[in-house]
Amino acid sequence: MDPYLNDSHQALRAEVREFAERQIAPVAREHDLQSRFPWDNVRAMADRGWFGANVPKQYGGLGLDTLSYMLIIEELARVDASHSITISAHSTLGMSPIQNYGTEDQKQRYLPLLASGRVLGGFGLTEPGAGSDAGATRTVAVRENGEYRINGSKIFITHAGVGEIFVVTAVTDRSRGVKGITSFIVTKETTDRESADRVGVGHARELDPFTPGVRAGKKEDKMGWRASDTRELLLDDARVPAENRLGEEGQGFINFMKTLDAGRIGIGALSLGLAQGSFDTAVKFAAKAERNGKPMRDAQGVQFTLADMAMEIACARHLVYHAAWLKQNDQPFGPQASMAKLYASELCMRNSMRAIQLLGAAGYTSEYPVERMMRDGKICEIGEGTSEVQRLVIARSLFRTADGTA
Ligand SMILES: Cc1cc2nc3c(=O)[nH]c(=O)nc-3n(C[C@H](O)[C@H](O)[C@H](O)COP(=O)(O)OP(=O)(O)OC[C@H]3O[C@@H](n4cnc5c(N)ncnc54)[C@H](O)[C@@H]3O)c2cc1C
Repeated sequence: MDPYLNDSHQALRAEVREFAERQIAPVAREHDLQSRFPWDNVRAMADRGWFGANVPKQYGGLGLDTLSYMLIIEELARVDASHSITISAHSTLGMSPIQNYGTEDQKQRYLPLLASGRVLGGFGLTEPGAGSDAGATRTVAVRENGEYRINGSKIFITHAGVGEIFVVTAVTDRSRGVKGITSFIVTKETTDRESADRVGVGHARELDPFTPGVRAGKKEDKMGWRASDTRELLLDDARVPAENRLGEEGQGFINFMKTLDAGRIGIGALSLGLAQGSFDTAVKFAAKAERNGKPMRDAQGVQFTLADMAMEIACARHLVYHAAWLKQNDQPFGPQASMAKLYASELCMRNSMRAIQLLGAAGYTSEYPVERMMRDGKICEIGEGTSEVQRLVIARSLFRTADGTA
């Protein structure tokens, strides 16, 4: 018996795995090559309810627990990280702040659109000079006549082009430092109406009129996650009605810190999926290949590599599932989420490189997915808190425990 997963979890894992192998694997390389957003599969995943996996049913979600949601992220990433981050960034970053900090009116208005996958969401925090140091936010919101005028630019925002609903941060009172940062819900029309209309998700007419002054900027040409949409999100004298403020003024920083804590479990699960995908390719290859007239599987060096890969995946899986279990049981989970993210993200890089080495030149080509997995893995050590930031979070929690203030 698995200590974390029950029969429903196992059935969900099998369902997502089957979908990923049948519907994503054949097209993942092409989407990566073309840096093309996978609209058809977004529609298929929306039909399965995966954009609202752990949103309560009353807001249009599947009402599943955190572990179920993590299994979806993990299994998608085992085949393709871009598909996985599409669900993860939408759910944890775009939707969960509204679910956790929104008024009932905000939840009623935005969650059903997001949870059904009819519209994609995102989260605008990072700015030039304000990534790890998110408190250095320069975007400013000034209250005037019952609305806020927001000016600034957010960079590297997942779904800034294809998405329509965003949570963004802005300074409302600079004299209060991070306690002067506030969150807002803003909307903009997708940059790809043609695809959205073709597949029937990605655009909601009822959001019109969209927030004036919000638009997508330049699309990034990235090393990995190439089928995921990453762009600037520009706020140019954006007029945001006061009822779109998310939480009280000054609560934005603490709320997005909590959002990122949860996001780290998601990136941990995505990294775990990548680490598993690289391993699966390596073990299948070694099971069949022959070198020097002998089965590769009999070479002790190969066996040692595969054993280390499998053992470290087991460690990562325990860390990720444990952090998810803590969260779904309302226990503190911040340092555990950081450990899960840090270990799994560094492992997915390590495993992809071990897999490429084991396959030799074949692993360096697009005939196998491991070169893509290596490129897709690198951002897991950077996004939603770099490895250095995770180490700081973990170290601070150690000293809180030592000081008796944990
Ligand atoms: C594909 C992609 C998708 C993204 N999606 C989103 C999104 O949807 N929303 C969003 O808001 N952002 C998003 N980001 C931005 C991402 O979260 C940031 O890139 C990340 O937080 C790091 O910030 P930075 O790039 O400014 O690096 P910096 O913060 O400038 O860090 C540079 C280096 O300095 C190190 N460093 C910084 N501070 C410390 C310290 N105190 N101690 C030790 N070392 C330190 C870092 O670890 C890193 O190695 C995305 C980025 C990418 C590439």
